Amino acid sequence: MSRSDKHILVVSAIRPRHMEELAAKYELHRWDQATDKDAFLANVADRIAALVSTAGVGVPTELIGKLPNLRVITSFGVGYDAIDIAACTARGIRVSNTPDVLNDDVADTAIMLLLATLRRLVVGDHWARSGQWSEKGAMPLTTTARGKKLGIVGLGRIGQAIAARAEPIGMEIGYFGRSKKPVDYHYEADLIGLANWADVLMISCPGGAATQGIINADVLKALGPRGFVINIARGSVIDEPALIAALRDGVIAGAGLDVFHNEPHMDRAFAEFENVVLYPHNASGTVETRDAMAQMVVDNLAQWFADGTLVSPVN
Ligand code: NAP
Repeated sequence: MSRSDKHILVVSAIRPRHMEELAAKYELHRWDQATDKDAFLANVADRIAALVSTAGVGVPTELIGKLPNLRVITSFGVGYDAIDIAACTARGIRVSNTPDVLNDDVADTAIMLLLATLRRLVVGDHWARSGQWSEKGAMPLTTTARGKKLGIVGLGRIGQAIAARAEPIGMEIGYFGRSKKPVDYHYEADLIGLANWADVLMISCPGGAATQGIINADVLKALGPRGFVINIARGSVIDEPALIAALRDGVIAGAGLDVFHNEPHMDRAFAEFENVVLYPHNASGTVETRDAMAQMVVDNLAQWFADGTLVSPVN
């Protein structure tokens, strides 16, 4: 198959250097840059065999329906809740993601948010910058992570990397998931049970229908007024109005959040809370990790065009 036979639809671009590499090897069709997307598609739809997108943008299910010869979707990111995997599987369309290469940066971010929230880093930063330190003296005392119970919702690749970092900090580890893992950590088969047990609830499960709003008002109540929530998974996993109410009313002590409903148009209510540390969905956002993720997209496409298999298949 020559370059002119390998047509790829770009729904969301990856890193510039990797886009150049793809452009040198394949015929790229920039749906992401087209103003009239339907007219653009009418000219190329039949030729598209592969599609590149990112986890944040995903792939509209109706777009998949308009590409009769689509065979493979390579997605930049580990979460694939914005791609209808069942619809792809039914059509025989293979999907790949970029697992593992982002575990360390995402787990580091989880611990960064955990410590920043418990130790009130942003409040302390403001205390120093604004001159309150010299005017009022020391900032109010915070609470330690050492000796606290960390309840991880979803002990997968990233959840385990978070646990490995939390242990040397001196935290006790527990988790909730659909199945018990071969680890020594405390297991709770019930989410309310984990919230009752934990001081800090760490969300690291996938988004999508199965986990929609599972961190609800009852879970937050069970976590209690000295409990914290850290979310590096997906905004959809938390019932956000319930979280905002819990933060406002002291139902929980605070939260560290990398992910939100309706990104990037985050609910502005969060900006009003001093007991919250915010990060704009940037847990994997280092040059090194984003390059490694982009390389996995390039490698998945190369392998698929070579022998029809994928480096990191989802379905
Ligand atoms: P993974 O290895 O597949 O782990 C997911 C874990 O969640 C598994 O332990 C799984 O365990 C559990 N789980 C699955 N469905 C569940 C459910 N319905 N209820 C409770 N637990 C469930 O995935 P990963 O690589 O660690 O990534 C996890 C998620 O992190 C991704 O899906 C993505 O959404 C998010 N993420 C966010 C960022 C960011 O920038 N903030 C970056 C990377 C990833 P069981 O099967 O035993 O339940």
